[in-house]
Amino acid sequence: LIAVPGLVDMHVHFREPGQTYKEDIATGGQAAARGGFTTVCCMANTLPAIDSRELVELVASKAAAIELLVVGALSKGLNGKELADFAGMKQGGICALSDDGKTLMDRDLMKQAALQAKELGLFITDHCEPETEIVARDIELARETGCHFHLQHISLKESLELIKTAKAEGINITCETAPHYFTLTSEALKSQGANAKMNPPLKSEADRLAVIEAIQDGTIDVIATDHAPHSQEEKAQGVESAPFGVIGLETAFALSYTKLVMPGLISLQKLIELMSINPAKILNLHRDEGDFAIFDIGTAYKINSKEFASKSRNTPFEGMEVYGRTVMTVSKGRLIYNDRSFN
Ligand SMILES: [Zn+2]
Ligand SMILES: [Zn+2]
Repeated sequence: LIAVPGLVDMHVHFREPGQTYKEDIATGGQAAARGGFTTVCCMANTLPAIDSRELVELVASKAAAIELLVVGALSKGLNGKELADFAGMKQGGICALSDDGKTLMDRDLMKQAALQAKELGLFITDHCEPETEIVARDIELARETGCHFHLQHISLKESLELIKTAKAEGINITCETAPHYFTLTSEALKSQGANAKMNPPLKSEADRLAVIEAIQDGTIDVIATDHAPHSQEEKAQGVESAPFGVIGLETAFALSYTKLVMPGLISLQKLIELMSINPAKILNLHRDEGDFAIFDIGTAYKINSKEFASKSRNTPFEGMEVYGRTVMTVSKGRLIYNDRSFN
């Protein structure tokens, strides 16, 4: 068994308010706890979008097993046209700004957003689509404004090359990838269908290897899940019409441990940096010594979505054999998850 500081997920979708048939804050929080996470950041693309102080406070007030941080929308209703009330949302306690799910395409508006965010001491966590073009734009905006940009779910070799160069120049950017980008390629669509459909989509083997290399050399700061629950009915519509997204909270640590640490690609210490220490630094979190998780790294098990605490089952990892099952998660000294089958 190993004990690690509580994992921090900078990127989840808990679907509340508006789409609680997919997930809600209580079940999302339980899924997080079951994955060894003690802090998560909820994205703003709910219905309605979290774009005002009132909505930030409403979401933040919901009870969750883990510490729930709220990301405020960049634009009102994620419309990409008019900026949301950053100052009000900051008073409501947001941790960052993002239109995740949609890319704010208007460069001038994004520049205004970056200037305001910097003024308020906030950072922007951006969904980059089309990926490399927006990564390049955001690097330029970070250079022009000094605002910190965190680039979400990076999946392409070309994007990683731009980020690596920008970091070497000292530009204020960080980035994340998700476990599916270093474990799967677009081949997975053949066997997993709509459960392997997400945004950005799975890429080539060369991209997968580039993501691993960027994890090793520090270009990638964070592994986040982009936990995006959808109902079985929605995913049953098939690859063409099903919505984008896969869940990840209950598989992220085991996949990362099995695919990165066990083959010796990175050390366990490096994995803890990617999943706990670096996101906590980016979020400027106060670390609580009572936040930790215990994982069983000595026993193989098969991923079984029927055991998930999440309301949804849209995982492309069903049946995969992994190591690193969560045995126990403790938040602020309180037991929030305990695997009773472990003895
Ligand atoms: Zn996104
Ligand atoms: Zn997302």
